[in-house]
Amino acid sequence: MTLEVPAEPRPDCPLCPRLVAYREENARQEPGWFNGAVPSFGDDNARLLIVGLAPGRTGANRTARPFTGDWAGDLLYATLERYGFSEGTYRADPGDGLTLHDAMITNAVRCAPPQNKPIGAEMANCRPFLAARIAALPKLKVMIALGRIAHENTLRALGLRPAAFKFAHSAEHLVEGPQGPLTLIDSYHCSRYNTNTGRLTEPMFHDVFEKAKARL
Ligand code: SF4
Repeated sequence: MTLEVPAEPRPDCPLCPRLVAYREENARQEPGWFNGAVPSFGDDNARLLIVGLAPGRTGANRTARPFTGDWAGDLLYATLERYGFSEGTYRADPGDGLTLHDAMITNAVRCAPPQNKPIGAEMANCRPFLAARIAALPKLKVMIALGRIAHENTLRALGLRPAAFKFAHSAEHLVEGPQGPLTLIDSYHCSRYNTNTGRLTEPMFHDVFEKAKARL
């Protein structure tokens, strides 16, 4: 008998020793923070899934909601509102009452990694949860991968070889998911670094969401 992997790992998931140690270190330093595997956020009937890399230490790792409380979230949540995927006002706090409609946000790696850099074994350990997350969305049609690592992990979670799908900002890839055909759209990650350096501008990010809207 094989045990089914849940779409959401337990907050105290033990699978990655380095990330468990980092969670424990963060919990010692900041006992009021969440410091666990951050659950996905959004609509269980979403047609759009946004896949990020991993929780930021002072963002989602602190607040327990993806992209909440750090720079990347400001742009992501503003964009979700602009394209009608949210209701309420984002205030960088899970208690802000914001809800997502037709969209969900998850991360390829659910625990905050040191320096925002998960290692290969951690991505592999967390991939079954990503695969289960994707499979648990019955109406899913479009995925947006934020950054190359999210792109590669999403493809691997679908059992596909990343080498066959070249990452490029705003590129669209037709893939087969458990629900049927899916469109995977790539974006540069909406990180502070990428927006400060101009690698990702607001119009570039909007372009990705325009494409996603058109495919829904
Ligand atoms: S990164 Fe994923 S697999 Fe690793 S400990 Fe966290 S939840 Fe578990």
